[in-house]
Amino acid sequence: MLCKSCKKKINKTLIDLGSAPLSNNLLYKIEESENWYPLKVMICSNCWLAQTNHNLTSSEVFNKNYPYLSSVSKSLLINSKKYADDVYDKFLKNKKNNKILEIASNDGYLLQYFKNKKFISKIVGIEPTPEAAKISRKKKIQTLEVFFEKKEAKKLDKKFGKFDLIIANNVVAHIPDINSFIQGIKKLLSKTGIVTIEFQYLVDLINKNIFDNIYHEHYYYYSFTSFNKILEKFNLKAFDYQKIEAQGGSLRLYITHKNNKIYAVSNNIKKLKNLETKIGIKKLKFYSNFFTNTVNKKNQFLSKLIELKNKKKTIFGYGAAAKGNTMINFCGIKNDLIDYVVDKNSYKQGKFLPGSRIPIVSENFIRKTKPDYIVIIPWNIAEEIKKDLKYVKGWGCKFIIYQPQVKII
Ligand SMILES: [Zn+2]
Repeated sequence: MLCKSCKKKINKTLIDLGSAPLSNNLLYKIEESENWYPLKVMICSNCWLAQTNHNLTSSEVFNKNYPYLSSVSKSLLINSKKYADDVYDKFLKNKKNNKILEIASNDGYLLQYFKNKKFISKIVGIEPTPEAAKISRKKKIQTLEVFFEKKEAKKLDKKFGKFDLIIANNVVAHIPDINSFIQGIKKLLSKTGIVTIEFQYLVDLINKNIFDNIYHEHYYYYSFTSFNKILEKFNLKAFDYQKIEAQGGSLRLYITHKNNKIYAVSNNIKKLKNLETKIGIKKLKFYSNFFTNTVNKKNQFLSKLIELKNKKKTIFGYGAAAKGNTMINFCGIKNDLIDYVVDKNSYKQGKFLPGSRIPIVSENFIRKTKPDYIVIIPWNIAEEIKKDLKYVKGWGCKFIIYQPQVKII
């Protein structure tokens, strides 16, 4: 295949997870048929961009039933409010009439915190999934139901002009054509405007072996090195960054036009670049143990479940998150090992996980059937879930976590 960014030939496989159905494609009926697609990530030895090798389009991957609503996570809301306050104080409050654009604004989980700020004249969200867009509009946030790319940016430019802050959180992985996406951002950014982009960090993905973050919706897995190459190609620069805990380790980059002299590239960025070079981000050896570590983790997790099942224990899953389906389907788990998966989102209840066809039920099921173990599937918000489910300790129920290590708590 050709690299989706630099267009050079790629032949190095980072990881091959066999095949899987689309992680967010919940089934309405247990007997419904579904497509499975190869799930393999390649690494480009020219620009070091890790990328899936399938050619599924956005509309195939993000069907209308895509059920993820950001506001379900309390910790995400707390972090979003903090982000809005920080970025406003740092970059916006000294000038009037700021315009803000968020790409993949979901249900307005973040933009809502900008609404009452003084020097903001326009807030626009872009969210292609109808359910999330509808909720966002209810919060009185102007929300456009489109997929963002270069062509769309031209239309937005005509309609709204340039933006002073453009936000793209957890979306640059989901874009089939990343070049077009970044060109679109470049087009819409005002002369002194800034962009903040968050993505799950490839170095954590490899070092912590959080391979369940790999699914078809995630076309790309970025290091700073590979992402920065794309920015530079389109005359943008990352001038600062923060390391954040989201998704098991993410980077939040602060970006502006290359020729914007207000923001010089910080020492932090220089250090990050050097650090990545030092750990070998531009050498294949850095990536070579990822698959073996993944198989080891799969075996540990499966052995644990089988051991408990042999003792006739009931095991539930909590949180029908996309990443769980990568783990469950790679392990070949069905409802003989995990009886039910509980999810707070009523939209998901009554449906079945793709591939494994494990039934999704409401939280009442936990109180009613008192399971012996609960696997926390969105392990990235394990602390929050443990608090919510504190009552299960009442009958001695234990939690199973599988990332970054398999353990029972
Ligand atoms: Zn490349």
